[in-house]
Amino acid sequence: MNVQPDLDFIRTLKEAGGDTLKKCYQCATCSVMCPLSKDGKPFPRKEMIWAGWGMKDKLVADPDIFLCHQCGDCTANCPRGAKPGDVLSAIRSYAYTFYGWPQPLAKLASSAKGLPILIGLPVVVIFIMWLISGGMQIPNKEFFAEHGYQQFFGHWDFRWYAKNIFFIVLFMVPSLGLGLFSGVMGITKMWKSMAKNAGMNNEYRPSVLKFATDFVWPSLVEIVQHKRFNECGTYLNRVRGHLPLMLAFIGLFIVTCWSLLKNDVLGLFWPSLHGPLPLTDPFKLLANASAIALIFGIAVLWSNRKKSEAELNTQPTFYDWFIIWEITAVGATGLGAELLRWAGMPTLGYIVYFLHLVSIMMLFLYLPYTKLAHLLYRTTAYTFEKYRDSDFAVKK
Ligand code: SF4
Ligand code: SF4
Repeated sequence: MNVQPDLDFIRTLKEAGGDTLKKCYQCATCSVMCPLSKDGKPFPRKEMIWAGWGMKDKLVADPDIFLCHQCGDCTANCPRGAKPGDVLSAIRSYAYTFYGWPQPLAKLASSAKGLPILIGLPVVVIFIMWLISGGMQIPNKEFFAEHGYQQFFGHWDFRWYAKNIFFIVLFMVPSLGLGLFSGVMGITKMWKSMAKNAGMNNEYRPSVLKFATDFVWPSLVEIVQHKRFNECGTYLNRVRGHLPLMLAFIGLFIVTCWSLLKNDVLGLFWPSLHGPLPLTDPFKLLANASAIALIFGIAVLWSNRKKSEAELNTQPTFYDWFIIWEITAVGATGLGAELLRWAGMPTLGYIVYFLHLVSIMMLFLYLPYTKLAHLLYRTTAYTFEKYRDSDFAVKK
């Protein structure tokens, strides 16, 4: 086989935390130590060879890069200090950009150099929305205590639909829509690459229902239960951070869906449903519990990351820290806005609420390009792993 090393790819991996990849001398200790590697399809040794040879196309079409849970067991036991866990993490980061659409936005979100635009874009959009909405008023304490942020974008007398909701929907829905659309484009491309790499053809395909029940659903259950995370040894503590974070996102997703349904659909028929939720409302309780879980989870992951950088000499990467800061911003500004409302501080409250909207818009818009994209890509890799071992995966 004639191998043409992609030198740019190797350089990118080194810059993204895989700087040790050339130290590997192929002893295979890592594949033996990895608790998630299967006998018939071991990793990460083969990925280390491919990475050393710059075989980009093989690596981005390899589901194993997403089946790795970055537990660090291989890195802790590598006799050469080659840090295969970090190399796999760098390959995943590369894959987010490789599969990202549109490419300019994906590339922008791949390094700290893009941060001024990544932050500036939602700041400008939301600020312009605030200006054109005619909100532009900081309420007095009494008004703020009663209405909170319900009139951040101003108020109109049209009883069936709140102006605030209209403006939030105007920029949040397209942001989430673009994020999800791009994510679906990325996982579709990834699936095709993996199928081609595994030598499958599409002659015999299951129905959508069968595919969902036999492959997607069991993968989701396994992910939610954190089964594979629990098999990791060196950094088992990661479950303590990852699990509450995941439950927090599920909780906040449920609350957001209810809020959209209540305000945008049911509110059209029963206008009294508009307005803030009382503190004792079950959805409000779920939102607050999720916010606490989110802050706890991110604090654990933050401390784990620091520990891994100190003990395993893991290189700090933009991908790891951007998502930690991003989720911290969402949690801190959300909780901060609520506390400032209770404290009766409208000016500071409005500023923090503005930053909260900015951080959420960033989360939605950049979802397929940041480390959060593993939600989509790892689920796809789990699903593919089950599918390729099934009777549907007819080999050519
Ligand atoms: S990464 Fe380390 S443990 Fe794995 S094959 Fe290379 S030298 Fe051996
Ligand atoms: S980091 Fe953990 S899961 Fe990933 S390859 Fe190494 S041992 Fe396996």
